[in-house]
Amino acid sequence: MDEMEVIGNQKEKPDSTRPTFFIHTFGCQMNESDSEHIAGLLTSYGWQKGNCPEESNLVIINTCAVRAKSVDKFFSLLGRLKEIKKKRGFKIAVVGCVAQLEGEELFKLQPHIDYVIGPDNYLELPKIIDHKEKITSTTWSGHWREHPYSLIRRESQVSAYVPIMEGCNNFCTYCIVPFVRGREKYRPARFILEEIKALADRGFLEVQLLGQSITSYRDPESNQSLADLLRQVAQINNLKWIRFITSHPKNLTREIAQAMAEEKKICRQLHLPVQAGSNSILKRMNRGYTREEYLEKIAMLKELMPEISLSTDIIVGFPGESEKDFEDTLRLLEEVRFTNIFSFRYSPRPLTAASQWPDDVPFEVKRRRLIELQSLQKKIQLEINANFAGRIIDVLCLGRSQKTPHLYCGRNEAHQVVNFSSSLEVTNKMVKVKITSFGPYSLHGEIVPESI
Ligand code: SF4
Repeated sequence: MDEMEVIGNQKEKPDSTRPTFFIHTFGCQMNESDSEHIAGLLTSYGWQKGNCPEESNLVIINTCAVRAKSVDKFFSLLGRLKEIKKKRGFKIAVVGCVAQLEGEELFKLQPHIDYVIGPDNYLELPKIIDHKEKITSTTWSGHWREHPYSLIRRESQVSAYVPIMEGCNNFCTYCIVPFVRGREKYRPARFILEEIKALADRGFLEVQLLGQSITSYRDPESNQSLADLLRQVAQINNLKWIRFITSHPKNLTREIAQAMAEEKKICRQLHLPVQAGSNSILKRMNRGYTREEYLEKIAMLKELMPEISLSTDIIVGFPGESEKDFEDTLRLLEEVRFTNIFSFRYSPRPLTAASQWPDDVPFEVKRRRLIELQSLQKKIQLEINANFAGRIIDVLCLGRSQKTPHLYCGRNEAHQVVNFSSSLEVTNKMVKVKITSFGPYSLHGEIVPESI
């Protein structure tokens, strides 16, 4: 995820007659979306959302297993909760990817946990938390389980996550996702379209379609592709922006790119994880494309949409990564000129093929490569952002900036963070902002009052 933090809904004092839950979410947009589903489900059973563990009867931790760092953070949070639990007596439910990975083992590791619930079992949560004894629920269903979307308790009133698939069949050698989220399951398009129409009717201006390998999407009822779905979503009235994440380069078709180019509501912005710029590393990662094939996809996107904004993920220090391999990644950044990157040091994950190989790039080398990569990218971002100075751009305002509350904060079509001043209340509105200054990670400006 990224650096924008907005002040969310006003914190309400809990009603002392109703049971209260608190959710802490680690990880990606899919986890954030799952937490919104869980919050809505519990609310429908009479629970209310609290502001902190201390005032709650149930603390839910929605976990991420993708990187060792987020698992470490989860265990550190559990350690802190142990002491608070002794005084307050709440129950602890661990949900999400670490719950799926560890199952009952978590009770042995951390006896103060009460419930362990995998990502395919959230619908059972209200019944599970009725039990006094410890419960684990981590079974998988082979097909899509539809959650009632009307129950979702969304964090934003203007931009909504809409999951369209779950799981991944790709088995990249470093990635734990296929083991904790299972094989691909696709949501029927009719449910997706119904949910998005309802969102647009309620005034939502943006939807972000979610799936771990979204470019593989097929409607299980009609076999229509992601491109077909995107075109149908683009016909829905009152929506302004449509995004989708995460795309796999090998399944990014010209058909999808053409839908993006022709349907103006689909943002000219794409997150396309490359992971490495060296063919030998890409092969060892089992990514299913070469550097040249990736660059061909980028060329296709730029040919159809010269103004497209691209972002990516990079792993440094993958087993066997030489200086030459790393240089190839740096050159790829220079060639593509991403608007943003998410970069990480490699850490072996359980069950994956790469965890069987020696983690042979020393920590200090990984660290140095990450710094070098990020400083090159920072320079590129400054150059890209300089082109915005003086321009007037559309911004979807998501609220006030948490760091600088006198400013509003939002996203432009390229999904960059834009902080801006306005004398009028503009939360949840699409506005025009004149860019007056910029940094490597955000744009700054002032509202164009006539745009409100
Ligand atoms: S495509 Fe690869 S990196 Fe992405 S979720 Fe699937 S296995 Fe993991």
